[in-house]
Amino acid sequence: MHSIAEDLARQPEPGFVPADRVQRLGTETVFAVSAEAAALASRGRTVYPFHLGDLNIPTADHIVEAMDRAIRDGRTTYCPNAGIAPLREALAADVSAARCVTYAADEVSVQPGGKPVIGKFLMAAMNAGDEVLYPNPGFPIYSSFVEFLGGVAVPYGYLDAGDRYAIDIDAIERRITPRTRILILNDLHNPTAGECTAEELERIAELALRHDLLVLSDEAYFDVRFEGASRSIVSLPGMQERTVILYTFSKKYAMTGWRLGAAIGPRPLVDIITQLNVNLESCPNHFAQYGALEALTGDQAGPREMMARLKGRRDAALRILNATPGVRCHTPESTFYLYPDVTDAVRLTGCAGHEDFRRLLLDATGVSFCTRLHFGKALPGENRYHLRLAYSGVSTAQIEEGLGAFKAFIETTEPAGS
Ligand code: PMP
Repeated sequence: MHSIAEDLARQPEPGFVPADRVQRLGTETVFAVSAEAAALASRGRTVYPFHLGDLNIPTADHIVEAMDRAIRDGRTTYCPNAGIAPLREALAADVSAARCVTYAADEVSVQPGGKPVIGKFLMAAMNAGDEVLYPNPGFPIYSSFVEFLGGVAVPYGYLDAGDRYAIDIDAIERRITPRTRILILNDLHNPTAGECTAEELERIAELALRHDLLVLSDEAYFDVRFEGASRSIVSLPGMQERTVILYTFSKKYAMTGWRLGAAIGPRPLVDIITQLNVNLESCPNHFAQYGALEALTGDQAGPREMMARLKGRRDAALRILNATPGVRCHTPESTFYLYPDVTDAVRLTGCAGHEDFRRLLLDATGVSFCTRLHFGKALPGENRYHLRLAYSGVSTAQIEEGLGAFKAFIETTEPAGS
């Protein structure tokens, strides 16, 4: 006979066993770079934070005041699951006007950020085993969530088109199979800042129509642009019916921490997304939506001034990067990212690859940035090195000082006589 204590001692260690699907869940490794930079700063080093697409520009006062008023007016209860009616109406009007289409308020489901649209869209539209085309390099949550839900994430790349990065549309075409169900598009692209020409967008739309694909159009940076006008695939014939737009307040209005965005698209799909709101969070934050409403309908000086500041930063960064040996960078008209090709600088510094270069430069200069590898695994045949520099969270003075040190460091390692 064994004692109860002996029997218990023989039981396997009680412990948490994660669900099988967790094996397939990815993450955003950008946040690990932030933590590394913070650790370096806590040891007293000056760090120049180019790693995160967050803004060091505060939300405009009138937006904050609208939220303050709402909380004092008692908007502290639950609200409709798809968000407050005036915000849905204002979003429908704003997005329709900017894209030359017509959305009704009931085609808008307000979300706690733009990011949740990715998971909820996939939960609503993708079955296990469906193939989903997604950009790589690209926002890492696409493939993470596709695979988490049992789909097959199929990457397509970007090509250096001389003065910009362009989607490899031939790769999209080649990778479409009878199982392909969804195309994820992030025109005005994180991390390359690439954007489609009108003709390229038409070609992508034609593929979506021919192969009956649903499209998730991640338009997080639609309104973050310096010159010209953004285009959306929903403006092309037949596309509004098969596309869900990911909209966010995060970037345009410097509201990353507010967590407000929207899914905008065909009613049957958006209704399911709202049902997912019911299941996951009931409704978006009630009083914060009054701030978002003020952002959309109030004074637009904030975004204008922000873009002017960002343009100054972009130009300062480009001047230094393009004067650095082994570095070449395009001049994008949208997003707040730069995606320099540093292949020759990596070789010049004797580094073995992306991560080696990142660590060396962080350690030597305090300049903290992400590399191509934070945006997906390199595709077969890819043989160049790229960094992603976000200039949304650094001042022009920090850019000049930090990237000045970056340039000086690479210059000093330049082989003699070259
Ligand atoms: N899509 C892209 C391409 C992004 O870069 C981001 C944020 N970095 C998001 C979506 C999500 O942003 P948010 O959840 O803050 O709206």
